[in-house]
Amino acid sequence: MSASTANHARKLRKAARVILVGPPGAGKGTQSGRLLEHFRLSAISSGDILRENIRNRTPLGMQAESVMRGGGLINDAVMVKLIVGELSKRGWVESRPTTTSGITVTGALEIMGHTSAAKTARLAASNCPSSSFLLDGFPRTVTQAESLDKEVDMNFVVNLNVPRDVILDRIANRMVHEPSGRVYNNTWNPPQVPGYDDVTGEKLTKRADDCPETFAKRLKSYDKSTAPLLEYYDKTGLLWTVSGKSSDEITPQLDAEIFRRFG
Ligand code: ATP
Ligand code: MG
Repeated sequence: MSASTANHARKLRKAARVILVGPPGAGKGTQSGRLLEHFRLSAISSGDILRENIRNRTPLGMQAESVMRGGGLINDAVMVKLIVGELSKRGWVESRPTTTSGITVTGALEIMGHTSAAKTARLAASNCPSSSFLLDGFPRTVTQAESLDKEVDMNFVVNLNVPRDVILDRIANRMVHEPSGRVYNNTWNPPQVPGYDDVTGEKLTKRADDCPETFAKRLKSYDKSTAPLLEYYDKTGLLWTVSGKSSDEITPQLDAEIFRRFG
């Protein structure tokens, strides 16, 4: 984030704890980046954390790599530990007095196969506006959502509704700066220098799971596992749907709604 962007960010008066839901390629990463600029709303991207683990060859990364390449989903309990651990590490949730232990990324590994996610230490969200955060890519299943509910009171769920033909076209042209998670598109959001990140000047890459076959599988798994999430959050009254054919159409609507609720 540049200094000028930080100066222009609007302040929130209430803590926003936002979940972004939408099919792969709906622009979750793009909107996250803009919300960071516009409201200093920091995001945790489950996909970015997993890709970081793959790059660093961690045990979790090595386990996740083949699942992600195949377009499948990582085990729910592992994801819950990973994300809740990240939230507490960043200080966005406070340990309640009854908390028995802290959670670490390695904790995610410990529970694989033997301990239930229900044993996660309970955490309370801070109501300070600077503890606002956004989750991109998590929860992705109703099971993950139920587990998250036990830990933190999220207060806004955004459903990004983008037509399928737009999504398919987008993925073909998508390039990423993996270390930061910045996303570019050769047609609608090109980098200043073709093939290179605007901020660091480092080379952009194509995500391994953005090939057409894997992408079709990711869309299928979204329909099967993630679409029921919308129903789940609709029942709790947190769901808000925003539609648009481009991220530029969606951003002003999303900004206005965030400001209306939390500004
Ligand atoms: P996009 O980034 O294009 O919006 P996406 O939502 O499919 O698409 P990521 O969120 O980056 O992509 O996730 C990439 C992969 O990481 C998923 O296909 C899945 O294998 C794994 N993954 C990410 N988040 C989760 C999660 N919450 N539960 C299970 N698997 C996950
Ligand atoms: Mg993403």
